[in-house]
Amino acid sequence: MTACTGRFAPTPSGPLHAGSLTAAVISWLDARSRQGRWHLRIDDIDRPRTVPGAPDEILRTLDACGLGWDGAVVFQSEREPAYREALARLEAGGRVFACACSRQEVAAAGLMGLEGPIYPGTCREGLPPGREGRSIRLRADQRHWTITDRHLGALGFDLHRLGGDFVIRRADGVFAYQLATVVDDIDLGVTDVVRGIDLLGSVPRQLQLYRAFGHPEPRYLHHPVVIADSGRKLAKSSGAAPVPRRRPAALLAPILAAIGIPGVDPGFATAAPGAVDDLLEHARRQWDPERLPSGPIPEAALRPAGA
Ligand SMILES: [Zn+2]
Repeated sequence: MTACTGRFAPTPSGPLHAGSLTAAVISWLDARSRQGRWHLRIDDIDRPRTVPGAPDEILRTLDACGLGWDGAVVFQSEREPAYREALARLEAGGRVFACACSRQEVAAAGLMGLEGPIYPGTCREGLPPGREGRSIRLRADQRHWTITDRHLGALGFDLHRLGGDFVIRRADGVFAYQLATVVDDIDLGVTDVVRGIDLLGSVPRQLQLYRAFGHPEPRYLHHPVVIADSGRKLAKSSGAAPVPRRRPAALLAPILAAIGIPGVDPGFATAAPGAVDDLLEHARRQWDPERLPSGPIPEAALRPAGA
């Protein structure tokens, strides 16, 4: 019996950098330390952000670092039939409504939430006369949600203040991140969602989707993100450097030390065959989410020795 199933779901807007590789290592360890399955999904549903060649770069880096995945790689760009079918189920259950509002109209209503304007409910009971549906929104039927995050502990969310009824299919016809993620995680049998703390605001929207599908919710673990010298989260969009694949053991060692694996020298540097597997085997035995740092991880702490 498989105890748990995790996944890593990078956006292919470039090769892995120190932050995304750290996220991969954490979710891999969390699944593999419990003999669980670990899936790799390329979140390329938003095609304009997909950089040609990036998925291949990501796969090669994970492979070089010994982070093997189960089954075939899932590409969100090939999953549209599943999203359409999921949307049809939500429509049949009366969980969604067509929305005519533009972004500007939602903002003009003047309800400010934690991450942007709150949807004022304009089209909730039907489209206003003479207007046509642009996007499709899920009804935020439940306002307050709680989880026990495996790293952060007990957390409460107010879905209204996080925007209320939210878009699951955009005006350009693209399925929104929230819908695609939940449908994919359900289909992959993901029991443990392990991801960066920057995605915490997605929790109540995704829980509302799990509820709408009548599916049990996963466990969550939100881990610290890696920050650049500027203090901002490391991101491809702000020019984070791709990690070098030449000496993967030297790349992994500082990451493992930074995420609380005891007995790893962050300056470890060897090209010896088997070094990566030895490091990961040690980390797999020692992994404990309680030892994750409570604050962000500075990128400078992850530079491989000799780089
Ligand atoms: Zn509307």
